[in-house]
Amino acid sequence: MPPPFDLLIRNGHVIDPAQNIDGIVDVGIREGRIASIGATLDAAGCKDVRDAAGTYVCPGLVDLHGHWYEGGLYGINAEIGLNHGVTTAVDAGTSGFANFPEFRRATIETSRARILAFVHVSFMGLHGPFAEELVDLRYARPRETAIVAAGNRDVAVGVKVRLGAMTADHGNQALDLAIDAAREAEMPVMAHVSAGADERYVLDHLRPGDILTHCFHGRTNRMLADTPEGFIPELKLARERGVIFDIGHGCGSFAWETAQRAFEHHFWPDTISTDLHRYSVDSPWLVNMPQVMSKFLCLGMSLKDVIAKSTIAAANVLGRASEFGSLRPGSAADVMQFRVRTGSFTFTDTHRAARHGDRLIEPVLTIRKGIAYKPGSVSVPLRQVYPCDRVVFDNV
Ligand SMILES: [Zn+2]
Repeated sequence: MPPPFDLLIRNGHVIDPAQNIDGIVDVGIREGRIASIGATLDAAGCKDVRDAAGTYVCPGLVDLHGHWYEGGLYGINAEIGLNHGVTTAVDAGTSGFANFPEFRRATIETSRARILAFVHVSFMGLHGPFAEELVDLRYARPRETAIVAAGNRDVAVGVKVRLGAMTADHGNQALDLAIDAAREAEMPVMAHVSAGADERYVLDHLRPGDILTHCFHGRTNRMLADTPEGFIPELKLARERGVIFDIGHGCGSFAWETAQRAFEHHFWPDTISTDLHRYSVDSPWLVNMPQVMSKFLCLGMSLKDVIAKSTIAAANVLGRASEFGSLRPGSAADVMQFRVRTGSFTFTDTHRAARHGDRLIEPVLTIRKGIAYKPGSVSVPLRQVYPCDRVVFDNV
């Protein structure tokens, strides 16, 4: 008889919103899957028993928006998340139909992290900050995007489009083309909104299950309004219709002021994500998932809620809740152990506005497919900075 578990995490405070667990229980792992969860599991024969007393344990984090294809200027290695509790890293359209097969072969299939990806409606995905991917609408190829997305359904999860300066004055047409591709592939669209996007049009056209990312981007955000409701009517209608609102923090897309106003009007995000890429990973932003999550504790959200929006909510958006996002027996053995440090911590938004919080989520261990990684143990070299990158770094 083999021992029941390869790895047993004992005495941790488990928060698993999908199963409504919020208390001290053990988690047993066998052959890369959650084998059992419950009070005082039998450790007999288990070679790796870890005492998690005094810390929290939750499902491995699902980062719904990052950039993990290093064949372009934005991408970084998704394994960086193994230092931060992230076990599922979703690529938000760093590649398009032309380079997705290479992204899949060289990165998705070889990474120690689980990588899923939105395929950009622009043929090569993200270009560069000096001339973005849809300044010329001829780059948008809905037919080919749909063929590649549908043909890679095991790892492709939707169609990406960015609306704002990168779509010049044809943002609404770009959104229409992305929706055409998504409809043909029977997948959701993830629409990035930034300065220059026509928010009313976007909110009116996104379908149930489609995702609007950068929902709390600052200053030019026209979704909030000085009305008694606090926002434009299209926002409420979109939420009622089932549109998903995602954070996508990044280096320009999270403003305390916007988030605070939204919270005051009872408008919360559906999913918390980093928009981690070559720029936001670097100083001064230094974005990572536990940091972004801590900002939502700072805004008054409960720990359980923050965990839910960083795990099962994202898995649900992707239609993959049976595979990951919870600690249900049979799910992948993707786990985050963390502590919540108390003290005085300074958090800054992407406009360099500071707020002080009294709690910080600090990763202790990441388990992906049953293998444990300590913070800092996964080294991820970053590509060099070029003169063209200064467009981003100097605009802080
Ligand atoms: Zn992004």
